[in-house]
Amino acid sequence: MKQFHLTYDNDKNFEKELEEIRQWCDRNTVYKIVFRLFTEDMDKSRIMHVCEILDREMPEALYFGCTSNANILDGVLAEAKIILMCTVFEYETTQMLLLQFPFLEENYKDAVDGLKRCCEENPWVNSVEMLATIMDMSMRGFCDEMSTLKKGIQVFGGGAFNPNMDDESAGVFSKGNGFLEHGIVFLLMGGKDFHAYSRFISGWKPLKRRFHITKADKEVLYELDGKPAFEVYKRFLNIEKNENFFSNTLEFPLFLERDGLNILRCPLAVNDDDSLVMSSDMEEDAYVKIAYGDPETILSSIRMDGQKIADFQPEVIETFSCAARKAFWGDTNISKETVMFKEVAPTAGFYTHGEFIRIDDIMLNFNVTLVIAAMREGEPKTQEKVDFRGPVFQKLDKIPMIWRFVSFIEASTAELEAMNQILSLTAITDGLTRLYNRAEIERRIKNALEEAANGTGDERIHLIMLDIDNFKRVNDTYGHKEGDEVIIALSDVMQQVAQEIPETSVGRWGGEEFMMLLIGNGMAAVLDAAEKVRRKFAEIVFEKAGHQTVSVGVTRMNPGESADKMCSRVDKALYMAKDAGKNRVIKLD
Ligand code: GH3
Ligand code: MG
Ligand code: MG
Repeated sequence: MKQFHLTYDNDKNFEKELEEIRQWCDRNTVYKIVFRLFTEDMDKSRIMHVCEILDREMPEALYFGCTSNANILDGVLAEAKIILMCTVFEYETTQMLLLQFPFLEENYKDAVDGLKRCCEENPWVNSVEMLATIMDMSMRGFCDEMSTLKKGIQVFGGGAFNPNMDDESAGVFSKGNGFLEHGIVFLLMGGKDFHAYSRFISGWKPLKRRFHITKADKEVLYELDGKPAFEVYKRFLNIEKNENFFSNTLEFPLFLERDGLNILRCPLAVNDDDSLVMSSDMEEDAYVKIAYGDPETILSSIRMDGQKIADFQPEVIETFSCAARKAFWGDTNISKETVMFKEVAPTAGFYTHGEFIRIDDIMLNFNVTLVIAAMREGEPKTQEKVDFRGPVFQKLDKIPMIWRFVSFIEASTAELEAMNQILSLTAITDGLTRLYNRAEIERRIKNALEEAANGTGDERIHLIMLDIDNFKRVNDTYGHKEGDEVIIALSDVMQQVAQEIPETSVGRWGGEEFMMLLIGNGMAAVLDAAEKVRRKFAEIVFEKAGHQTVSVGVTRMNPGESADKMCSRVDKALYMAKDAGKNRVIKLD
């Protein structure tokens, strides 16, 4: 496999460049030739003109391409508006096939079906490259369909774009199929000696704090944690609604959690209702995290992942890099991301509107990401590997300042979250006994009854109410502190018994009165639990107060009744136990 890079400027120079390739091919064994053409020149007639020259000068070659935001040639941002990568295949076993389909919301299925059929008919296919116009399309359905493609076939590619990011027009084209403004091209590649290896790299890092997507529809993100989505940018990052919104949020796009991966989505605009227009589909009920883009962090990620590309020892590297990355870095710095790849193999590609890659057979549509496809024919040619990691990792003593800040933020957030947990526990528990407080146990009873009433919960709901017998005397005789010990001891007994019965809540109802809520048990089991608490408590010998006893009332829920009604019945049962001589369990239906 050999790669030539060309640009189209005028016919004469282009034809000369093609002639040089022709001569090289004549001197070497060549089985197939494929041109990829990426153009930020949107003039369709000029694009078609270049295709005609290819048809005429290289009739045996395949070609395909798309419009782009900008191009990458020899690993750097290309100056030329039209670039071509010409790949020459040197193994007879390597095969390929071009497919092109119209591509819109209503017919994407036909395209995927066509691709699938072709992959079934040609078992040699092991990789598919795709170029597609994806403006105004939800990619979710397409990705789901593509995920059902024959297992093990890798897919990589990018969305066609326009040098003007606000301009929606784009196009794809391929040999024999013409130019489509809404189209998709697949290049199917394979054969036993053709190897491809694809990876995605973002370099943006997530901050740990998660936000719940409480409302979203396609690419519009309405709410995070129940509030208008823009508030997150305003409150946490002090980003305003102004003409800099896109460039400001580019440093802080969102990571969408999907299929166990973090997928970048960037906010493109804010609507009047403070919802955000995102770069691609969002998903209601999923979670997002704020990502931060820091040049040094990004470059070190690329070096880290790039090493894996280098280890594959490719002969050709194709890059599908998001146009948003170029906006982030700016034209003078963007090449830093890709230039190191040319040390590994000839590197070319384009700046995309959405990047595609299939990971573990799941097709993913990214934004703000760099998808790299490395290709090779035959086994690696040398034992020598390019060391990709570079100086960043050799100088670990100099850690970028932003890493320190992120570490500070993460540590503070973790501390606050831990504190929050304690606070929310304090809000529902009783300080002396650690049991639920009155408000919480009441809430749980109401909840259980409501769920039972609307058919979502178990109807076998029981209450056990307890009151320590002659407790005033304990306080009066042995002091308040001993009284507290008795209360704590009864609480421990109730907790122990409750632990053996699932779905049991224990609460402190008042001074030395307690309530147990049991869901999903028969009356016999509940009476058994009540009796167990009474007996175990009576067995305890307190240092000063000796033996103490407790009276217990038990009742079960009657269909449709309120929490108040049920509570006053169990209270009545408890007082029947007191009236009957205390230290006993009384059940009242
Ligand atoms: P009975 O058997 O009828 O229940 O008699 P009793 O003496 O237990 O009567 P009652 O239930 O009215 O007494 C409750 C007493 O519990 C009154 C109050 O001083 C005491 N008490 C309430 N909360 C606490 C507490 O947190 N610690 C201590 N030590 N005593 C408490
Ligand atoms: Mg009492
Ligand atoms: Mg009492």
